[in-house]
Amino acid sequence: MADLPYRIVIGLEVHVQLLTRTKLFCGCSTQFGLPPNSATCPVCIGMPGVLPVMNRRAFDLALRAALALNCQIARFTKWDRKNYYYPDLPKNYQISQYDLPFSYDGWLEIPTPAGSKRIGISRVHLEEDAGKMLHDEQGGGRDSLVDLNRAGTPLLEIVSWPDLASPEEAKAYLEEIRLLLREIGVSDCEMQEGSLRCDANINIHIPQGDGPVVKTPIVEIKNLNSFRAVERAMKYEAQRQYEEALRDANYRLGQVAKATAGWDEVRGRTIVQRRKEEASDYRYFPEPDLVPVVVEDAWLEHARAEMGELPAAQRRRLVEQYGLSPYDAGVLTSQGRALVAYFEDVARRSGDARTACNWITNQVLASLKERKMEIKDFPLHSERLAELIAEQKAIGLNKQMAGEVYNHMLENGCSAKEAIDALGIKPVADTGALVEIVRRALAANPKAVADFKAGKTKAAQAIKGAVMRETKGTARPEVVEQIIVEQIEKTP
Ligand code: ZN
Ligand code: MN
Repeated sequence: MADLPYRIVIGLEVHVQLLTRTKLFCGCSTQFGLPPNSATCPVCIGMPGVLPVMNRRAFDLALRAALALNCQIARFTKWDRKNYYYPDLPKNYQISQYDLPFSYDGWLEIPTPAGSKRIGISRVHLEEDAGKMLHDEQGGGRDSLVDLNRAGTPLLEIVSWPDLASPEEAKAYLEEIRLLLREIGVSDCEMQEGSLRCDANINIHIPQGDGPVVKTPIVEIKNLNSFRAVERAMKYEAQRQYEEALRDANYRLGQVAKATAGWDEVRGRTIVQRRKEEASDYRYFPEPDLVPVVVEDAWLEHARAEMGELPAAQRRRLVEQYGLSPYDAGVLTSQGRALVAYFEDVARRSGDARTACNWITNQVLASLKERKMEIKDFPLHSERLAELIAEQKAIGLNKQMAGEVYNHMLENGCSAKEAIDALGIKPVADTGALVEIVRRALAANPKAVADFKAGKTKAAQAIKGAVMRETKGTARPEVVEQIIVEQIEKTP
């Protein structure tokens, strides 16, 4: 990003649906894909006189997420009404948290090409979701329907500081949130099912030689519904703001209000929609039907105990404990804890973490992708892969043959030894046998031997080729080379 004439400043607001079975303030199901308006009750459709009751499980998950995001936890927190009118919100207010969010002041470490970077998190709060409008579903462009199944579903709103300095970082931050929350069992973060949604605030800073830096008005881009959309929208909007700043002096002087925009995926551009509303427009006030929440030590400790190892710590540990590169550690971690556990088991059994990592990041991940499968269903168990690594070393299988053994094991569910037998690979196990073969090859190639002795080290290749042919590639090339040199030195 060093070649841009401006600096990009991005902050993200992420809404994540919590993995509870029931809604935040009533017992209705949160299951995705139920018939419209079937998972509703007087509480979540806002009938007069009903009383909401907080789902303690939702608060549990929210605490776990906030701790994983390194947040401070408020010991006293309350609910507020955010008032606005929209057909998918029958109560005319959303129960949210305003001035006393249950957590604040956290950070998330994201991997970047320049190393890991901390992104500040200003607050994380709990709130209920609204329903969903379905436009033009049945009336040929003339109807709008509303489905209230989602109304009252628990959402976690995670607000970052504007610490993201590029579209790539924004995408990496979102991916890290998804990985983290999936790993700790807080959300499935399925973007296409709406359980992870993202709004982005973006502006740019343009240096002006000696003059003050020009800061463009912040634009909030709503409802970015894929990782790619986030990255593309950020790129587009930064450049759009730059061009507008070049063109328009008022804009350049910051005399234009903040705005809200949408993202047109098809045309690949942002569309500025309206001047942004301020918090005062929502007339927040404390929710009178819910008691404030007091978080005791025991509750907090319980949430902490359920977190497990977080991705950033896991990446560091894989580098330190197994000597993996940060890149490889990132690849393993990004696939989730189950794959990391698989790797650790293969590494422990084979005693060779580097080779275990190579097998997994290359062949195993490719096989999983090809079979559209998760590691827990993978037929080649960790002990089998460790066995293959052991055989590979014991009999000096080259890469290509090891790959054939791997495929055979995967297809037939057999052990490495069985696969080697079935493929008719005759291992040249002892160096004794290999020495014999090398001696024969030397005897058959006196010219190559003479050339080698005369300093033409390349001549050894011809002998090596003969040996590899005879052993059908089962000998390890580096061992063959070593024996050739030793034997040539012994010949008079
Ligand atoms: Zn309900
Ligand atoms: Mn919200």
